[in-house]
Amino acid sequence: MDKHVIVIGAGVVGIATALQLRLAGCRVTLLDRGEPARETSYGNAGAFAVSDVIPLAEPGVLRRVPRWLLDPLGPLALRWRYLPGLAPWLLRFVAASRPRRVAALTRDLAALLGRVNADYAPLIAHAGLDGMWRRHGALTLYRDQDELAAALPAWQRKREHGVAWHALDRAALQVRSPALAADWHCAVEVPAWSHVDDPYLFSRGLFDAFVRGGGQFIASEASALAMDGERVCGVDTEQHGRLTADAVVVACGVWSDRFARQLHCRLPLESERGYHVTLPRAGIALHHFIQCASESFVILPMAGGGLRLAGTVELAHRDAPPDWRRAHILIDKARRIVGDFSCEEMTVWMGNRPSLPDTLPAIGALPGRQGVYFATGHGHLGLTLAATTGALLTELICAATPTLDLAPYSPGRF
Ligand SMILES: Cc1cc2nc3c(=O)[nH]c(=O)nc-3n(C[C@H](O)[C@H](O)[C@H](O)COP(=O)(O)OP(=O)(O)OC[C@H]3O[C@@H](n4cnc5c(N)ncnc54)[C@H](O)[C@@H]3O)c2cc1C
Repeated sequence: MDKHVIVIGAGVVGIATALQLRLAGCRVTLLDRGEPARETSYGNAGAFAVSDVIPLAEPGVLRRVPRWLLDPLGPLALRWRYLPGLAPWLLRFVAASRPRRVAALTRDLAALLGRVNADYAPLIAHAGLDGMWRRHGALTLYRDQDELAAALPAWQRKREHGVAWHALDRAALQVRSPALAADWHCAVEVPAWSHVDDPYLFSRGLFDAFVRGGGQFIASEASALAMDGERVCGVDTEQHGRLTADAVVVACGVWSDRFARQLHCRLPLESERGYHVTLPRAGIALHHFIQCASESFVILPMAGGGLRLAGTVELAHRDAPPDWRRAHILIDKARRIVGDFSCEEMTVWMGNRPSLPDTLPAIGALPGRQGVYFATGHGHLGLTLAATTGALLTELICAATPTLDLAPYSPGRF
């Protein structure tokens, strides 16, 4: 087969998709207006979050929103001046929180998340990245038994959708992770979670494997899809004119909506902005990925005792200036978990999670068009779902019958 596929966007989703298309025998051109993996895929928390099967819009979360919004530095912030622009997305988000809808969305997320490790394993082996893939599981911390008891119904629902977990008491928690402060009394351990030391280096490793395997990378901004009637025939670029192709995958993260608009498709993408603090000299030896349930942030153990603190959601336009206080507050929160650490050579970062209001990504062909595919809207789960997205699209483009029904993830569902 010598099908030529252009993938627009070299974030982790586009890279993993391009690599798998190439491995399946396609001729693949990956386009990015900048360097590969320098946008949202650069600074995420590095987790393969396979237990996150419950969509964000669910009644438990909605009940907590008013309290969160009263605290400008809490886990969720809304820049009020952007409210008119965000309102349609927020209304759809609330509509997705009806119990029957939540049940269906949970099933659809679980169908993707249940195959993440199987989809990643061959890709990571092929790219020679096994040494970076830490399969140590994750610990979600709770201050006391009451806090854990309040979370158990959600954990029970996760178990019903195939997520294996067990609760740890304080003694077991101390054995698992001696670096944790004593006032964390219990936790839930998910053994199937894994993480990478550095998500940027990981994405670059996949990119290098793509290029080594004969994939082509072109640094150029895509300005439009080139259409011949209903069929795509290539991509118009700023620096290289028209590039022809048999199929095009749009994987531009939060910037994908311009191509949907061009084809009159409604794709309600907004940015759930998130922040990180990276502390390369923290000097804390952690083995597990740590989630703090009450504060909605996570700790990624990095190489050599470094830490990355990441999380928080800020609803604002993707181009709004960052509010760095949202990164700095993570430091005090983390000290309450792992004690004091060095902030030497600390860096802060903000990224745009590309989010659709029902929490499901858009993976699949655009209805009514031929050869146009979308791989976007992965929100909090882009690193986690990149290999699965690439595997499904490769099946769709090369074999026509994907191993999973893609209807729930259709880019045309809105
Ligand atoms: C603080 C934080 C923590 C996170 N933690 C995790 C985590 O632990 N696990 C997880 O799974 N996910 C996590 N995420 C989410 C994850 O980072 C994103 O879902 C993922 O990076 C999205 O990848 P992407 O490839 O879709 O988009 P991006 O990485 O943003 O890539 C899009 C690419 O498209 C290019 N592009 C855009 N427009 C054009 C154009 N017109 N022409 C050419 N190129 C174009 C851009 O230059 C960019 O390189 C986190 C996010 C944040 C912010």
